[in-house]
Amino acid sequence: MKERIIIGVCVVTVAFGAWQLFSSDLVSGGTVESGVRIVNLETGHGFMIEIGEGFKGWPVKTPDTGKMTGYPAEACYWDQCGQKQGGNWVVLNRTLGKDGETVCPECGHRVVGHNPLPPGTYVNKDGYLQQRKGQPQPAVGDRGADDRNGRH
Ligand SMILES: [Zn+2]
Repeated sequence: MKERIIIGVCVVTVAFGAWQLFSSDLVSGGTVESGVRIVNLETGHGFMIEIGEGFKGWPVKTPDTGKMTGYPAEACYWDQCGQKQGGNWVVLNRTLGKDGETVCPECGHRVVGHNPLPPGTYVNKDGYLQQRKGQPQPAVGDRGADDRNGRH
């Protein structure tokens, strides 16, 4: 039965390779599931991009203006930022070669690399901050009107 498994793996690999080949033009901008979060400093718009072999360092070309003003961003989920899908995206001062701590322009919380979430929370697969309760959450569609207690 081993052969069958190996054949299966090959098929998946080939299919994935083909998918990459055909989709490589499509994932250079727009919304993709995985990738790197960037912000266009000129427009303030955020995008998920794929960083591929052609990556030559920051900044990168942005999907909206096509200019080299895209920088990697961290997501802030503190206070009101936690109510936005995907949080608020902030480019670190360090990334821009500036001194000093980075502060979220929306909520004023400090933002660092691999920015932590508020304690006792997680981000669901739709990009929304959820309060962690003692037990597993229902997967989707359970974002009750306003069951959050706001800031603490
Ligand atoms: Zn914030």
